[in-house]
Amino acid sequence: MYLSPSIVIIGAGPSGLLFARLLEVNGFKNYVIYERDESSSPGPWQQGGSLDIHGPSGQQALKEAGLFEEFNTVYARWNASRIRILKPSGETSICFGEDRNAPEIDRLQLRQLLLNSIPAHKIKWGHGVRRIERSDNESDDSAYRYVIQFINGSSATGFKLIVGADGGWSKVRPLISAAQPVYCGKMYIESRISHNNKSYKAAYDLAGPGMMMAVGPNRSLILQQSGDGTYKMYFGITAAKDFYEHRNDGATKKSEAIRKLMVSSDKFYANWAPHLKAIVADAEGPFRAWSLHYLRPEEVDWNRDVAPGVTLLGDAAHLSTPFVGEGVNCAMYDAVVLVKRLVELCGKSPDITTVPASKLEEALASYEKEMFERGRDLIRRSTKSEALLFDENGEETFPASMRGEHEKLFYDGRTSTRA
Ligand SMILES: Cc1cc2nc3c(=O)[nH]c(=O)nc-3n(C[C@H](O)[C@H](O)[C@H](O)COP(=O)(O)OP(=O)(O)OC[C@H]3O[C@@H](n4cnc5c(N)ncnc54)[C@H](O)[C@@H]3O)c2cc1C
Repeated sequence: MYLSPSIVIIGAGPSGLLFARLLEVNGFKNYVIYERDESSSPGPWQQGGSLDIHGPSGQQALKEAGLFEEFNTVYARWNASRIRILKPSGETSICFGEDRNAPEIDRLQLRQLLLNSIPAHKIKWGHGVRRIERSDNESDDSAYRYVIQFINGSSATGFKLIVGADGGWSKVRPLISAAQPVYCGKMYIESRISHNNKSYKAAYDLAGPGMMMAVGPNRSLILQQSGDGTYKMYFGITAAKDFYEHRNDGATKKSEAIRKLMVSSDKFYANWAPHLKAIVADAEGPFRAWSLHYLRPEEVDWNRDVAPGVTLLGDAAHLSTPFVGEGVNCAMYDAVVLVKRLVELCGKSPDITTVPASKLEEALASYEKEMFERGRDLIRRSTKSEALLFDENGEETFPASMRGEHEKLFYDGRTSTRA
């Protein structure tokens, strides 16, 4: 059993790492991060795509963390915010976003930027949480009563604050909420177009340094440039949750079958313009499936009495589908607000060990009140966007939303109110 610092963060994703960095910046040195991945090197399915970092939330978070300058000079792709929307016929519906205040960064680059900003020894790799149990000792103060059991057989206890930043399938969430992710009925199947792919030029012509979305009935096809100039391609389809799963040995073979199906079935892209179909035919595997889940917005709410000393950040708290492209921004902003509440709580002495548990609870409740609202708003807007994008008449309804003919759902790069 490990001896414990006062704050434990579960998960070294954007929200957990940004939270850790903000703790560092504000003088809270007594924390540890437990992460499931074995190391900072990406696993075969972890490559991930590009994320646009919004002015008032993601960029603001990086500014508060003292990382904006490095982000801006080393990683930010300001020329990548243009989105071209096509019909299945190949005709352009709308091209917009060139001047959005939303530069792109690769997911792995963001992780590296954040990892470099905190002492390496603070992260315990290879520590996936299996479950968290309550100890029987009722006299324990606040989160001191929890025992974290890791998949590697070790355990840890004695933390005053447990912060679950472990994503949509959080092992911390069950302590405070019965909410379970719900499959939205859509999935993105991720593939690549590399420099030497014969469709590379076609991909470049369609998406340039930004993104192309071809939208048809109940489906879409997305191309997005990564930092190294290659493209991620996503088949956005309406399908059963088990339509394609990549986590097995046969992924390469299965990818070939999926590729053939995408090109030959009129449920997918068979009737689309020849140049779009040609790119699908050249999609590089093995594919990665993102089956898209969300938490019911009304369940983004809990009673603090259920699990004192425990809270959640980012997707763990308010998992959303990605149809407004804001999850990472919202997750990082959560960390900003939570650290602000801790700073207010501790004043000039950045250490929560001496703070009465009741005061810590008040600080967490204040953070959560704001976070619940932000998270629920994100989930609701993303669900509305999903309905427009996957509509039977999506080639009309989705571009119309981009032209502002529906309720405003997206961060447009100008307003300061939305995450
Ligand atoms: C296909 C797709 C496209 C997206 N596109 C965008 C976009 O363009 N813009 C945007 O803003 N957002 C986007 N999102 C959403 C965004 O990825 C998430 O909202 C964001 O990553 C949430 O960050 P997080 O730190 O809360 O969780 P995560 O990024 O999920 O990080 C969780 C971390 O916890 C670790 N972990 C998980 N379980 C355990 C465990 N049991 N024990 C220990 N560690 C654990 C994981 O390994 C990971 O490191 C997209 C999501 C998807 C699926």
